[in-house]
Amino acid sequence: MSATVAPLPRRPANGVGSVRVRAHLPRPGVEAEPVDCTLFVLEAGDTFLALPEAVVTDPRGVPPLESLAFTEPAGGGGPLVPADERRKAQAYAVGNAAWHVQRGLRYVTSLLEHPLPILTVRLNAHGPDWGGGHYRLPARQYTDLPEQPGVAATGEVHLGTGRRYVGTRDGRYFAAPSHNAAIIYHELGHHVCRHTADFRGNRHRNQAAQTNLRTGIEEGTCDYLAAVLLGTPDIYGWHRGDRSVAAPRRRRLDTPLTMAGFRGGRDVDPHSDGTVWATALWSARFAWQEQGLAEHAFDSALLRALMHLGEESLSQDAAEREHMLRRRRYFSAVLAALLEQAQRHPGDPSGVSAVEAAFAARGIVVGHSNAALRDAARR
Ligand SMILES: [Zn+2]
Repeated sequence: MSATVAPLPRRPANGVGSVRVRAHLPRPGVEAEPVDCTLFVLEAGDTFLALPEAVVTDPRGVPPLESLAFTEPAGGGGPLVPADERRKAQAYAVGNAAWHVQRGLRYVTSLLEHPLPILTVRLNAHGPDWGGGHYRLPARQYTDLPEQPGVAATGEVHLGTGRRYVGTRDGRYFAAPSHNAAIIYHELGHHVCRHTADFRGNRHRNQAAQTNLRTGIEEGTCDYLAAVLLGTPDIYGWHRGDRSVAAPRRRRLDTPLTMAGFRGGRDVDPHSDGTVWATALWSARFAWQEQGLAEHAFDSALLRALMHLGEESLSQDAAEREHMLRRRRYFSAVLAALLEQAQRHPGDPSGVSAVEAAFAARGIVVGHSNAALRDAARR
């Protein structure tokens, strides 16, 4: 099913510099106009673009750099349009995905003040029949799709070709993940989590046998980062605008969700539970801003909190280690770390109080498990 994975350059050599590309930030229900952007490229090959932060690959081929300035989204392509339209959409996907990945990682780097390990981004990773997007670490087994050997130990984002058309103001658009900044940013968020809070303790595992299981705290953090980078709480409004605003799969961050809506447990989609955390973060960021404080300072406190959690030394004993990791994934544990980092922000301490109050309004306070917070919110 999948095409052979081309070997990636480990150490890009011939610096190319900045090139012009076209990319867009889709708005809910609207096919946004692509705009001219600048992408910094280290090296380009037939099937890859090496950036300082990431390597973007497409086994179908990467267009010549000079042509990236003239690509068109072509309505996302899809099976119902002629082959030359699909090729246009594919070429646009490369520049669009590369630009958003670079933009997102640069924002995170500016907050952490150090770069993350190189991210590999594979377009068309699972052949033409796969329409999804996911983040993968090498593992002994995978829950949904088998992976090619050699998944990068530092993590890979896989973006499929799409599986359905969505209606827009301008007609239909094929929902290609590589055209959708929300999906790109969400998956990039998993790379951020892996190399900061590391909620699953993957850095303590055999690097060829990590786990891709995720929990609500991670999924919610990814949605929050997507909202920050998109500048809207309705992150999936473009592809999921036909769903009601409050629908769990819509995953809007500006709904009045509280811990009463948290479910927990292995059988629950962590994306849904994560929305509780994401909405709390979003409202806390707003509360912080209302105190006259810069929003990026709040994001910086969050990223530093995640990094701080990931630096906690874990027990050598497997059972004890899993217990420590479970506590790390409590919303209240991340909130405590966030408040600690926010207190270090120079200036008016009212920002910390405002953040604490915003989380409390969602039923999230320091010192309790997720289940205890849920039960308290339902009383
Ligand atoms: Zn996810």
